[in-house]
Amino acid sequence: MNNNIINEIKFVNEPILSYEIGSPERLELEKELNRIKNNFIDIPVIIGGKEIRTGSKGTCILPHNKNKIIGEFHKAEKKEVKMAIEDALKAKEKWEMMPWQSRVAIFLRAAELAAGPWRAKINAATMLSQSKTYKQAEIDSACELIDFFRYNASNLPQIYAEQPISPSKVWNKTEYRPLEGFIYAVSPFNFTSIATNLPCAPAIMGNVVLWKPASVAVYTAYVVYEILKEAGLPDGVINFIPGNAGEISDIVLKNKYLSGIHFTGSTKVFQDMWTKVGNNITNYRTFPRLVGETGGKDFIIVHDSANIESASRGLINGAFEYQGQKCSAASRAYIAKSLWPNIKEIIVEKASKIKTGDIEEIDTFMGAVIDQKSFNTIKSYIDYAKKSDDAEIIFGGNYDDSYGYFIEPTIILAKDPHFKTMEEEIFGPVLTIYVYDDKEFAETLKSVDNTSNYALTGALFAKDRYAIDQAQKALVNAAGNFYINDRPTGAVVGQQPFGGARLSGTNDKAGSKINLMRWISPRVTKETLSN
Ligand code: NAD
Repeated sequence: MNNNIINEIKFVNEPILSYEIGSPERLELEKELNRIKNNFIDIPVIIGGKEIRTGSKGTCILPHNKNKIIGEFHKAEKKEVKMAIEDALKAKEKWEMMPWQSRVAIFLRAAELAAGPWRAKINAATMLSQSKTYKQAEIDSACELIDFFRYNASNLPQIYAEQPISPSKVWNKTEYRPLEGFIYAVSPFNFTSIATNLPCAPAIMGNVVLWKPASVAVYTAYVVYEILKEAGLPDGVINFIPGNAGEISDIVLKNKYLSGIHFTGSTKVFQDMWTKVGNNITNYRTFPRLVGETGGKDFIIVHDSANIESASRGLINGAFEYQGQKCSAASRAYIAKSLWPNIKEIIVEKASKIKTGDIEEIDTFMGAVIDQKSFNTIKSYIDYAKKSDDAEIIFGGNYDDSYGYFIEPTIILAKDPHFKTMEEEIFGPVLTIYVYDDKEFAETLKSVDNTSNYALTGALFAKDRYAIDQAQKALVNAAGNFYINDRPTGAVVGQQPFGGARLSGTNDKAGSKINLMRWISPRVTKETLSN
């Protein structure tokens, strides 16, 4: 009998483990890294719980050792995509009728598995397939992923408890129905946690999902799928369909029962999907919900009152952790002229100490960028800066893809605040700096606001409270996540709900009630008790 009333599921952030040499977590992680490298796996498409091997395959490689193949994955083709839609819709009734406590229990169990017996597996997979250091993997594929599971679970009873008022003789009630149809979740390569949340947030609210992971991160996505299966997720609720994004999307986006898209990735791809949905709008059974968190051109401003040491640390960590491949990574900075000589000296020194290389070595700070395409794009921006009279490379600028896709941390000094690398998303370890006159703080804020069409994250380093207030006002629409005296990366679930506006996305704040609300459609019932 399921008649308990649960008002609160307590949430606390998962603690970050230290991985000191000789610690149990480090030994376990090393074991898993070796196991993955020595065991080639064959990853199927999974539809309605059935494993399907289509024979059309992609490979899973290590970006920092590009000839090392750790597995292959089968690509879903037209037939499998259609089958996935049918099986998802078949699973829908039973899933949405399941008591919510049971649904939540599955994801709370998944969190426990990821925190315990699967922690080393998911971290090792993230390190190898996405070239993350153990520190970056631990905060992503362990802590943030676990936090998403638990925080969504803790928000769910609060949403369901929100009820309308009922005057005398009337009883009003709201039911929070899942959407009619299925959700299409399309995930990026750079965060295992985000990739996991994209199918799981709609699923916890009672929806069925088709999940297309990024091809370069299928290996980790498959480990996530295994965790969900182990946690008891019923067949057909999340269908795993790696493959060619364009071909899969063409079928999915035309389907009458598409009820939502949950996307994280580049702006261009989201715009393309939105256009296709628009073109097909008269053919759907419902208006699909479009939720997308997309690109960024995230900034750091250093005011002349800033603490030089903390600003310099923010610039280096904000720009170069995970090779600058965080959507929130600092990629343009505006520094007050009076502080520049000191800051320049410190950041060049800090950058020169960054070790780029094999992510398995404990002192490596940066691994490789994700693939050849990304390497070529980043390289082209660096080459552009090298050739330009409007910029000077003050640190780095070298790259080498002979063994893996390695790019040195690169700092560009631009003479023009609208220099190409100040404006366009590069998604790599490249920071461009513009030095402004201390007296032109107000104009600089305007320039920060106007320079980019993105509005994801931004940071200000300053002690002067008037300057802080002035910046907060001037930049109100320039960032969905704004940081004062901290780097613009490292949002923590439940503490800094994440997302940006303008061309950075729909700002539905992953890992918050706002996001979960997008996957439900309330039905309100009025019952008159006196008739
Ligand atoms: P991407 O856009 O290349 O790929 C994202 C997903 O879209 C992948 O699964 C890919 O296969 C799929 N895709 C590609 N073409 C498609 C198409 N035509 N139709 C449908 N799906 C398609 O992005 P990426 O390289 O994986 O990730 C980097 C980008 O993601 C950056 O722009 C970054 O800023 C953004 N990002 C944003 C956030 C955020 O919260 N705002 C978080 C992480 C990443």
